[in-house]
Amino acid sequence: MATEKHAFQAEVGKLLDIVAHSLYSQKEIFLRELVSNASDACDKLRHLALTQPDLTAGDPGFRITLSIDKKARTLTVSDNGIGMDKDDLVGVLGTIARSGTQAFAASLAEAGKDKDRKDAAISLIGQFGVGFYSAFMVADLVEVVTRKAGADGAWKWSSDGKGEFTIEPAERAGRGTDVIVHLKKDEKEYLEDARIEHIVRTYSDHIGLPIMLGERTLNTASALWTRDRKDITEDQYREFYHHAAHAFDDPWMTLHNRVEGVIGYTNLLFIPSMRPFDLFHPDRATSVKLYVKKVFITDRCEGLLPPYLRFMKGVVDSEDLPLNISREMMQHNPLVAKISQGLVKRVFGELKKAAEKDADNYTTFWETFGPVLKEGLCEDKGNQDKILELARFRSSSRPGWISLADYVAAMKDGQEAIYYIAAEDPEAALASPQLEGFKAKGVEVLLMTDPVDEFWLPRVAKFQDKAFKSATRGGADLSKVAASDAKADGEKKAEDAPKHEGLDALLAGIKTALGTKVKDVRLSERLTDSPVCLVADEGDLDINLERLLKQHKQLSGQDLSPRVLEINPDHALTARLAGIARDKGPADPALHEAAFMLLDQARILEGEPVVDPQAFSRRLSKLMAQGLAA
Ligand code: ADP
Ligand code: MG
Repeated sequence: MATEKHAFQAEVGKLLDIVAHSLYSQKEIFLRELVSNASDACDKLRHLALTQPDLTAGDPGFRITLSIDKKARTLTVSDNGIGMDKDDLVGVLGTIARSGTQAFAASLAEAGKDKDRKDAAISLIGQFGVGFYSAFMVADLVEVVTRKAGADGAWKWSSDGKGEFTIEPAERAGRGTDVIVHLKKDEKEYLEDARIEHIVRTYSDHIGLPIMLGERTLNTASALWTRDRKDITEDQYREFYHHAAHAFDDPWMTLHNRVEGVIGYTNLLFIPSMRPFDLFHPDRATSVKLYVKKVFITDRCEGLLPPYLRFMKGVVDSEDLPLNISREMMQHNPLVAKISQGLVKRVFGELKKAAEKDADNYTTFWETFGPVLKEGLCEDKGNQDKILELARFRSSSRPGWISLADYVAAMKDGQEAIYYIAAEDPEAALASPQLEGFKAKGVEVLLMTDPVDEFWLPRVAKFQDKAFKSATRGGADLSKVAASDAKADGEKKAEDAPKHEGLDALLAGIKTALGTKVKDVRLSERLTDSPVCLVADEGDLDINLERLLKQHKQLSGQDLSPRVLEINPDHALTARLAGIARDKGPADPALHEAAFMLLDQARILEGEPVVDPQAFSRRLSKLMAQGLAA
């Protein structure tokens, strides 16, 4: 059979060009990536051999072998893992359709000409599932000779990384893969035993199978999580995290422990310090690797961790799960559910400790992963209280992040609810007219600015017996709070007696003018500066949620549903209008015009378009003309 020529997919070609020409200083990571692939290939075959033992017959022990040929100037990484057939070679080493290639190219493009950022992006190459290509940083030719376990023939893939690769039949004694790296002229350092040994010990010591150079094993070669905690250094944990998570930040937290009991398992889990790029991918998949008796089973075990902990990385290894269990059956296995409960409990416990130990450091975690953890408030009723304890919020009356316990401790006498306001960002929340009354009375309001907030708030009734209540809804009950500060009966009188004669007539006039455009017109307890605001009636959708649902096309129509228009009884404008209502009656044409101007103002304050821009402009011009003439 002749040699076949293939062109790299355009994106891969571009990426290779960047990798080959980068001035990246830590080129040695190419070896980390090739060893990682060799290790993955062995893990895959080990798993397959559980059901097809023939595949490893005659050569049951897995290993990675490095060999150096100074004369030919090659470094070869060999494994006796699963190997690749012709389709695999074409499919995975040249025409990659995976999202990783695109994401990697995008992160490089984003770095632009900034060398540091470009270096940072390149060091992350493995995270994007394009680690193999890092070989072209040091090679002017890469050959892959490989034979798939169970297949007869072998194949050779080769490329100089310049747009094309070739595939031809080849010879190989047994199953597995040799990646032959033909080093560029000035990369001779990778032909030195000592240099190679150093790189392997630095990046790959945790790999659970022997990495040999000649007769020597370079690494410790026992799975890291099976070792005693006190024998593991911080660096080893970090390198293991990099390998297991395909990430290159430092772990924010490391949880390594063994659990004995009804079901025994070891977990070595990490909380990253940076958000992975796919954190908000709609599949919300977890990626913790599940091992049974040190045999890799899957990194897609649904049910091992709930989706709201999908930022956790690492390994869980249990000796009590059946080895031959299929991935599909795994998610319904009651033992997996037991492990999951134990893990969740542990994570919550450790987070709580971390929060108590160093509140500032804890908020860095919260800022990174809080929005994901809050999904648990909707999905895991049993752990709601624990998540509420761990949650942190921005507040209207103090800087930084506070807990709900902090909030409750600062509640005013007579205040019964935990008030919050939902908005797109803290600035928008703080600018809401609905907050004026709360600020005036010193009542703290939590700023809910994550989309997920709108979904858990209606589902979580209470924290420490205090209900959550939106500051943009009817029934804010601020009068009760005030009663504690002012003299009770004096205040009551002031409240009952209308401040301006004609207020009732004014409300009636506005209501008639606006008709079905509003749900109701009421006097406001929550305004001090603005003349009007819109609030949602109790039982109606919160304004911000309705907006959010429309953005995501979950609700149709352009308009917000009719809201309650609240009028500030203390505002000078209200006094004037009440005077007109009293003297000329609620049906006066001036009130009719004013009603629409008030509604439009309220909508503008809410960031909504006015009802009828032409009519608004006409009314505004008329009023300005009158005002200027006076
Ligand atoms: P990733 O390891 O994240 O999948 P890489 O670019 O490192 O991305 O590798 C691409 C793919 O090439 C692997 O997923 C695997 O299918 C294949 N591959 C690379 N090296 C080997 C190997 N030594 N044995 C078998 N398959 C390999
Ligand atoms: Mg890889």
